[in-house]
Formats: sequence, C-alpha cells, structure tokens
Amino acid sequence: MLKGNGVSTGVGFGNVVILKKLERKIEKKTIRDAQKEQELKRVHEALQEVINDTENQMKNITGTEADIMQAYLMIMQDPSLIAETENAIKNSNYNAEYAVEVGFNSVAQIFENMDDKYMASRSRDILDIKNRVLGKLFKEETIDLTKLNPNTIIVAEELTTSETAKLDFNNISGIVTELGGENSHTSIMARTHAIPAITKVKDATKILKNGDSIAINGTSGEIYINPTEEEKQKLIDLEKQLEEEKVELEKYKKQESVTRDGIKVKLYANIGLPADAKIALNNTAEGVGLFRSEFLYMDSDTMPSEESQFTAYKEAVQIMEGREVIIRTLDIGGDKDLKYLELEKEANPFLGYRAIRLCLDRQDIFKTQLRAILRASAFGKLAIMFPMISSIDELRAAKEVLEECKKELDNEGIEYDKNIQVGIMIEIPSAALIADKLAKECDFFSIGTNDLIQYTVAVERGNEKISKLYTKYHPAVIQLIKKAIDGAHSANIICGMCGEAAGDSTFIPLLVGLGLDEFSMNSNSILRARKTINNLDSKECSKLSEEVINMSSAEEVEKRLKEFINQK
Ligand code: PEP
Ligand code: MG
Repeated sequence: MLKGNGVSTGVGFGNVVILKKLERKIEKKTIRDAQKEQELKRVHEALQEVINDTENQMKNITGTEADIMQAYLMIMQDPSLIAETENAIKNSNYNAEYAVEVGFNSVAQIFENMDDKYMASRSRDILDIKNRVLGKLFKEETIDLTKLNPNTIIVAEELTTSETAKLDFNNISGIVTELGGENSHTSIMARTHAIPAITKVKDATKILKNGDSIAINGTSGEIYINPTEEEKQKLIDLEKQLEEEKVELEKYKKQESVTRDGIKVKLYANIGLPADAKIALNNTAEGVGLFRSEFLYMDSDTMPSEESQFTAYKEAVQIMEGREVIIRTLDIGGDKDLKYLELEKEANPFLGYRAIRLCLDRQDIFKTQLRAILRASAFGKLAIMFPMISSIDELRAAKEVLEECKKELDNEGIEYDKNIQVGIMIEIPSAALIADKLAKECDFFSIGTNDLIQYTVAVERGNEKISKLYTKYHPAVIQLIKKAIDGAHSANIICGMCGEAAGDSTFIPLLVGLGLDEFSMNSNSILRARKTINNLDSKECSKLSEEVINMSSAEEVEKRLKEFINQK
C-alpha cells in the first residue's frame, strides 16, 4: 500500500495512466538549403501520423462526435493548413519544429480574428493539431487528457492547473500526484468535481505502472495496488457510508442558510468554468461567490476573445437563473501559468507580476475581459471582483479602467447593468489592514484565505515541505479576517469569503461569530456547511470568536474550534 495526503474525499477504483512531464523546447534553428526537403518531409510525415491516429479514433465513434471529428479531419487534410509552415521552411530556412510553431500559430491567428464565431473557434482546433504534430516531431508519447478511457486514475509527478482544467472529468476515478498541496488549484478542482485525489505520494510515478489496477481512498490518502477482496470490501463499505452521508445531506437542499437564532448568511459556490455552475445549482448554491475566470484562459491555447468570454459569462449567469454571479477578473501568475502570454520567469512568482498587477499593465487584456463581463451583465445579476488588491491606488486604477469600458459601451449603444457591483478580494495582509479605507470605495469584499494565509505566514500554499506551517488557525490570520469583516461593516458593505476556509465546518462557527455575511465554497461542501450553520447559535459563536481572537497559538485555536464543533 502507498500512502499520501487525501485532499479530495471519496473512493476510486480504476486503471493507472501515468502522465509524464513533457519537456518540449522548440528551438529556432537555421537550416541549410540542402536540408529543406528533409524538413518538409518530416512535417508531412508528422501530419500524416496525426491524420492516421484520428482516422483510427473515428472507427470507434458515431453520431455528433463523429461529425465533429470528420470536420477536424478535413481541416488537417486541407493543404492550406501547412502552407505557412512550408513557406517558413522554404523561405526562412527554419527547422521543422520551429516552422510548425510559427506556421500554425499564424493560421490560428487568422481564424481567431474572424467575425464568424464558428470560424473563430476553429483556431483552437488548429492549435490542437499543431501540438499533436509537434508531439510527433518530438516523438513524444502523449495522452489526450480531454478524452480518457472510463475509470482512469491519473498518476503524475504534478498536475499543472492548465492540465487539470482540461481533464475529462466524466471518465476519471481518481488523481494521484507526488507533489501538490491541499489548496493547490488542482486539489480545489478535484473537490469541485468530487474526484478522489491524493497528493504527496512519494515515487508514485516510479512505483505505479500504466494499466495497474488500483483503488484509492481520497479521505485517508491510501492507495492499494491490485487490491485484495478484503481491501476492496473495506473501500466499498466506505463508499457506501459516504453515499449515505450524501443522501442524509440532501434534506438540507430545502433548508435556509440560517442559524438556530435566525441569523441568515449566504451560501455561495466557487466555480472555474461556466459548466460548473450546473454543479453549483444542483447543490443549491444561492449564488456564485467566485468565478475563477482564469480557467477560461487556461482552458484555451490562445487569449480568449471578448466574444468567447461574453458567451461564457452569459452562460454562467443564465445557468444561475437570476442568482448573483461574482466574476473575478483574470488572476494569472503564481501557480497559474498561461503559456501563450510568455511571461518572464520570476524568482518569486507568488510575489510577482500577477493578477491585477498584470491587468493594469496590460490594459488590452483587462479591457477585453471587462467589456465581456459588462456585456454579459445585461443577462443576469453579475458582479465584478478584482483579485490581489494591495492598495487603494490599485483599486482606483482598476475602477478607472472599468469606467472607460462602460463609456465605450455607452458610445456603442451596448447594454449592460449600470449598477453592476464592484468588489475586491482581501487576500493580501496590506489590504486587510486598510480594509476600512478600501470598503469606502467598493461594494463588497471577499476574503481569499488561500492566499491570505500564505502571505501572512510566508508559506507558499503548494509547498509540501512547509505545509504544516500553512494554517488558517494562526491567530494572525484570524485577526486579519476580523479586520476585513469589521472594515467592511464600518462602511456598510458585505464581507464574504471565497478561500477554502469558508467551507470548513470546523472554521464556520468562528466565521459566523466574526459576522461573515457570505460563505463561498466548493459546490460539494454547501450542504454540509448549511447543516453546520443550521445547528449554530450566533451568540455562542460570538463568544467563541472573542475567546479565540485572544489566543496566541495556532494549535490552541485549532483545538478549541474542534472541541466546539464536536460538541454540536
Ligand atoms: C484565495 O486566494 O483564497 C482565492 C479564493 O483565490 P485563489 O485560490 O484562486 O488564489
Ligand atoms: Mg487568491
């Protein structure tokens, strides 16, 4: 048996698919004239291999999917697709790999700029074909993460956030990684999709082999290779128990999110892609407190256009049927990379050029997004939230860009919600400390504990070596949370929380005691959180928070909060 850290509960049975890290480096080389024929041949052969693979895949599918593949095949067989690549070899003397990179990118860009939505979205297909052709040129063994066999358990050294955003969640029974923390975006997404996940499994990619039959327990972090009947039965029993708990929680779908003594709070969901809004609604989320818009960017191979973002935001707001949807503007950087942005490597990415800092610098990107959000606001209750605000000047600058976008839309006669609410994330200690000032200039706060913890205690959220120090129970973190809530209330605005702490039943009594108004969490935590809240008395929670705020050690806080919830 292997053991790691269970970060997404549940039981998974399936077959291992090892995801190897691809170290693809496309070098720009100048070839001699005599080599041109050879490089052209390599490109044609690589493309032909991709065509053959696609034809083979098509043998097993029918219906709409087959029609889509047929259209895809037609693009591959169109000679104009590789004309730019051929020219890059013939005229610029580029090597095959580099010629494919520049040739396909320029064709993709032409499609991306087309007004016709269908044609514009073909640019994704072209970039996908490019990646597959490059894979053949580099002789890589690739796995199409978007199309996996049923009951796949992905095993990797580390899954990047972009890889996770692409996963075929319908066919995944589990995720096992050697690295990664509980609050990495990969773990967060696994929980959203209720996929059992285990991190910190030493040498998992060496010990496990492709095709191995394994069973995993995402709660305890245990992995069984070729499980015995007894082990299987133990896990089946656990699965049954989890299922029973789920059924028991169903009754909270009909309850209000209110304490025993009548204090109402909002229970919202965090989502990554518009389709996640369906999971949120199914779990009776009363709104979306955090739409991590960067997943739209990570799910794409090129910068998403205003039109494609508008469609996505509109879809989310329409799925939520009139409930509030808070869209957080692009929060890229840190552990969320966008290859096509080609950002410079930084020594400390979490302290670097990211989120609102990047958006204020790259207003072309920022305005495209703000226009898309504003346009979608005509179709429901949307709100805008800026991430990583560290000062009042940043908030003012961001609001100024928003005003410019509103004016543009006014001039173009395009409708949007003129009263759209504008809020900020409180996830940097400096923002929490001046919360009362910030609150006067925006409509709501949402506390991002995932980052607030890392910046308060100086512990990177995904670094497993120091993960013991990363704790929401640290009294300094709790004091900053209190500062944010009090600051919001001093200006009569709402304070929410969308960090993972908001969905933790041990932490919820303290947050109720501190007066948090809105709890936004993983959709699958909503019913349990509602059950917890229904059992609380707000006066008891206030007393608890007064007691805890004076404590000096994280251990002491954790012990007291656990004791409190266990007595419920
Ligand atoms: C946070 O920092 O708490 C948060 C919700 O944002 P993210 O996890 O996407 O950084
Ligand atoms: Mg954050």
